[in-house]
Amino acid sequence: MFKVGDIEVHRIEEIIIYEPMTLFPDFQQDGLEKNLHWLKPHYYDAGRAMFPTSVHSWLLKTPKLTILIDTCGGNNKTRPISPRFNLLNTPYLDRLKAAGVAPEDVDYVILTHLHIDHVGWNTKLENGQWVPTFPNAKYVMSRVERDFHDPQRGAKEKPEGVNLPFIDSVQPILDAGLAQLVEGNEKLFDGIELVPIPGHTPGMMAIKVRSGGDEALFAGDIAHQPIQIAYPDWSTKYCADPKQAAASRWKIFDYCSETGSLLLPVHFGWPYCGRITRKGESYSFVPFEKEP
Ligand SMILES: [Zn+2]
Repeated sequence: MFKVGDIEVHRIEEIIIYEPMTLFPDFQQDGLEKNLHWLKPHYYDAGRAMFPTSVHSWLLKTPKLTILIDTCGGNNKTRPISPRFNLLNTPYLDRLKAAGVAPEDVDYVILTHLHIDHVGWNTKLENGQWVPTFPNAKYVMSRVERDFHDPQRGAKEKPEGVNLPFIDSVQPILDAGLAQLVEGNEKLFDGIELVPIPGHTPGMMAIKVRSGGDEALFAGDIAHQPIQIAYPDWSTKYCADPKQAAASRWKIFDYCSETGSLLLPVHFGWPYCGRITRKGESYSFVPFEKEP
């Protein structure tokens, strides 16, 4: 745990996976080699020749509220097109408990976007039904994002396998009346506001947190890997609009380098977050080595 002002920040891990270079359609081997001196050993696994990738939630405890940002892949979910998330059985809720939080304690779940690895623990399996894991929470999600992934709306033509995360992890939240749809640019609470970062998905948003003169930016999948800080134009194969994803990345990196805001994405391996500084044509990364 570390603090941003008087807000506690915890990281709740689900799994660590490894991504090959093909994660980035624009990958350049010499780009990797030029940056190995700072990527190794944590951000590049030379033995596997892959990028270690964490899947985690960020948990905020403010003096008044318990807020969970993103909910990983979830247990018992059938994921025919994503074997890495198929029928997971992890002690995620035990890890949440170790951070002092029972599911009933969560006041807000904020979903940066509605991809498979960000919505899973929204629901859990109970007597064959998907029910909200956090029954007392409001689940904050972008309206644009809901429309894009909803099989009744923007995702009509997509195969069922693609739509399963919405069907079993988002629709039950809407049905239970627990969703709070937002535009993605509003102030949610004192010191906590949403920032639109479209591109990876159309409605992705970051959460800007200010407290006691400190600032942190919980930025979803603005970057999957630290190497993108050196190469902000490298979008991933999972990005819906790679050009717009890159534009959002430049904008956020620029913002973080100017303000000193701590950047907390969802997939960096240890050290899981850090600060960004200007370096030549792009940026360099200053990892924040406190265990969240
Ligand atoms: Zn993700």
